[in-house]
Amino acid sequence: MFKFCNLYSGSSGNCSLIMTENSKILIDCGITNKKLVEGLASLNISPKDIDAVLITHEHSDHIQGLKTLCKNANINVYANHHTMDAINQPIDDGLKKYFVTNEKFELNDLKITPFAIPHDAADPVGFSVEKGDKKISVATDIGHMNTNIMENLLGSNFVLLEANYEPEMLMASRYPYILKRRILGPYGHLSNDEAGNALVELYKNGVTNIQLGHLSQQNNFPELAYKTVLEKFINSNIDTSTLNISVASRDKVDKPIDIE
Ligand SMILES: [Zn+2]
Ligand SMILES: [Zn+2]
Repeated sequence: MFKFCNLYSGSSGNCSLIMTENSKILIDCGITNKKLVEGLASLNISPKDIDAVLITHEHSDHIQGLKTLCKNANINVYANHHTMDAINQPIDDGLKKYFVTNEKFELNDLKITPFAIPHDAADPVGFSVEKGDKKISVATDIGHMNTNIMENLLGSNFVLLEANYEPEMLMASRYPYILKRRILGPYGHLSNDEAGNALVELYKNGVTNIQLGHLSQQNNFPELAYKTVLEKFINSNIDTSTLNISVASRDKVDKPIDIE
């Protein structure tokens, strides 16, 4: 068994779960403890069953529920040094486990590669998680796509990729100019268009199982993200029946995706 399950995804909070027979790990914990407990319960999982939580970066939509999760369920938190130092929540020192960005490490039956991403945080990462010859990758909060990210996503049996905003909606929004500039900039977020371009390249290299995530609530909506990305495939003359694309839900637990 090797499964990915989006619990919550979007600018308002991010948390996903990867499961094998021997491991249950969370990627980020950017939701309230109440929502986390409810989400896990819908999968018949208790927080105490979780082996570890991996942290991409210290923004609150990725760590909001961390303190309570650690306190209530005594769960190890994995992050690099800069991110751990930037987390503004008290976490028991005994629960802090450190990885080095771009260096693979093992956790139970999983091999995990944290890879660097361009985003305005202390030392942000995406993750590739391997079990045997199968690989799940999660990459959100990406200012722009680069070779390092693409190389890490290649060979994945499943990719959760950010499709954060539609530029026209963002420009027309009430967001202050400085925030618009941050989101559009090289250390902000990935647009629907940019996500689509990257996914077409990945598809040409064998990645067919895709979920779009971290959608902005104000500057995007699921049908638009899906349609924009799908059009990229159609314009590249790709038979879309060979694709499996979904959009990660903002506020409800998605059906787990079977990788193996
Ligand atoms: Zn962020
Ligand atoms: Zn975020």
